[in-house]
Amino acid sequence: MANIIDGKAVSARVKEEIANETAAVKAKYGINIGLAVVIVGDDPASRIYVNNKKKACETVGFTSYEYALSADTTQEELLQLIDKLNKDDNVNGILVQLPLPKHLDEKAVINSISPEKDVDAFHPVNVGKIMIGEYSFLPCTPAGIMELIASTGVEIKGKECVVVGRSNIVGKPMSMLLLHQSGTVTICHSKTQDLADHCRKADILVVAVGVPKLVTGDMIKEGAVVIDVGMNRLENGKLCGDVDFDSAKEKASFITPVPGGVGPMTIAMLMKNTLTAAKIKHGIE
Ligand code: NDP
Repeated sequence: MANIIDGKAVSARVKEEIANETAAVKAKYGINIGLAVVIVGDDPASRIYVNNKKKACETVGFTSYEYALSADTTQEELLQLIDKLNKDDNVNGILVQLPLPKHLDEKAVINSISPEKDVDAFHPVNVGKIMIGEYSFLPCTPAGIMELIASTGVEIKGKECVVVGRSNIVGKPMSMLLLHQSGTVTICHSKTQDLADHCRKADILVVAVGVPKLVTGDMIKEGAVVIDVGMNRLENGKLCGDVDFDSAKEKASFITPVPGGVGPMTIAMLMKNTLTAAKIKHGIE
């Protein structure tokens, strides 16, 4: 029977550390730390995420600046706003809530954010830095997962790590972070033959697919650490992961629940990146 990894508790601990450091930095250097959050349109899920990010800013002592734009905002208007925020000294981090409405070019928007303020770490410059292991910011979800794995005390070095999913936001950077920690990494995706066989070899299994209960207990090695990134909304309104929790917990040594596992970590790591951006800007070690 697995130990349940408490993402809420780890996230609260990380946010407390950030709040303490923020208070110390503010007192010593007399600076303010600001995060600009841009939301376009009225997608209810995006609105919840943005509200949670604003709340987290309050918790750690940052100023949040919200820019809520109407759904018919043009590409040019959005790029103008980002240009303004890039130049604004009060803004240390810029977050554009994705997905954007279909008529907007998401890639061009991400590329327009100054890499120094790209606290989501989606800009190609930051993605490249992650590849070569010389990064300032890590993408929030994979970085949060690394904190969760660290909280188990299980060492990554030399372990068989399997990542299911190869998205730019989760799967690919996740694989790179595990590799940097000297894991032996396999990346699976929709064209992988015999997914179960790969999963069964994993000492550390990270599943980021978006298919409810894709990974079942019989696909899990006895004693594995299982991280479920999936956030799938079922017809009954409940959230469900990509891992079948009930069967998986009988095999894993540690497992994240959904909700309450990876989700709470993502925002904590966004706060960490914003603090890092402010420290770099002001030359603070
Ligand atoms: P994407 O849709 O961008 O990527 C999904 C990946 O899963 C793709 O690489 C795809 O393969 C692969 N895949 C799809 N079906 C299968 C299958 N049957 N077998 C093996 N691989 C498969 O999703 P994201 O990475 O953005 O998100 C994944 C999940 O994580 C979603 O549920 C999302 O909601 C959740 N999420 C949660 C976050 C959190 O904070 N908790 C943050 C971000 C995401 P291929 O490339 O071949 O198409």
